[in-house]
Amino acid sequence: MAGKVQYFAGLDLGGTFLKYALGDHQGAILFKDKLPSRADQSGEQVFQVMFQAVRNLVQEAKKNGGELSAIGVGSPGAIDFEKGRLVGRTPNIKKWADTDIRGTLQDEFSIPVWVDNDANIMALAESRQGAARGVKNVICATLGTGIGGGILIDGELYRGSHFAGAEIGHMMIVHNGLPCNCGGRGCFELYTAAPAILREYVSRMAANKKTVPEHVTTKIVFQRAAEGEHEANEAIDMAIDYMGTGFASLVNIFNPEMIVIGGGVADAGDAFIARIHKAIELKAMKPAMKGVKVKRAVLGNDAGCVGAISLALEMLQKTNKVVASLI
Ligand SMILES: [Zn+2]
Repeated sequence: MAGKVQYFAGLDLGGTFLKYALGDHQGAILFKDKLPSRADQSGEQVFQVMFQAVRNLVQEAKKNGGELSAIGVGSPGAIDFEKGRLVGRTPNIKKWADTDIRGTLQDEFSIPVWVDNDANIMALAESRQGAARGVKNVICATLGTGIGGGILIDGELYRGSHFAGAEIGHMMIVHNGLPCNCGGRGCFELYTAAPAILREYVSRMAANKKTVPEHVTTKIVFQRAAEGEHEANEAIDMAIDYMGTGFASLVNIFNPEMIVIGGGVADAGDAFIARIHKAIELKAMKPAMKGVKVKRAVLGNDAGCVGAISLALEMLQKTNKVVASLI
């Protein structure tokens, strides 16, 4: 073992692709690729794809004169971090209920494996290598079809007592508001994520008897807003106003140093992020908001792999420290 350079595998499992990468001991990516995740097929098929990815990384590690020391995985769904298992089901991957992700990978490769929820992994990535590098208290939000959340307290992910915490998309901000898939009503994501912006836009266009473009996306709404279209601007203003409410509540509770916003909606750009920042400032308590930065996530498509690599290398270091202290 002595002398061999340690490398780490980062797997980012999604409904369409499994992205994977090889990282070094500082978490820098040396190689990355992706495979169709075959999430619509059997659970066994998904594991075959993961095995293939790790085998490729084993080869890449060898090419770089070292060996694979640990595997980190970001997966959709609620993940029992202690056990490395999916809790219940995830709609993104059919036929994966209570799947033992860690056990299956460890049996195949005989190296340590750690698994976490993909929103947590994204937050970890931004805090270790991205917008929040070196920042200890961070709220991360991924704005897409919903809102994924990750919370770092004193540099560590907060997972909750049963690994179901940090679901900021399901913080209820409207009493008895719109019904949500989670079983609650009035959840944050129902007023701020992409479908909310589109819903508001379509309804305002209909009210003004205007035609909505076919296959309208948030990108189109942002373009039209930039061109000065009233309804597009109003739809975006609405989402920003609600974001102010939700994030201000989080600021009042957590008093973070930074809020990082990623995902497709955040691609609208820095001006959009600056407007969210202003909306939060209007509503948050002054002492809690003092010095809070609001930044756009910077790792984009690499965030999942970067976070999974960081998880693997940090957990291996922690485990080795515990072992060393017992000897
Ligand atoms: Zn909800």
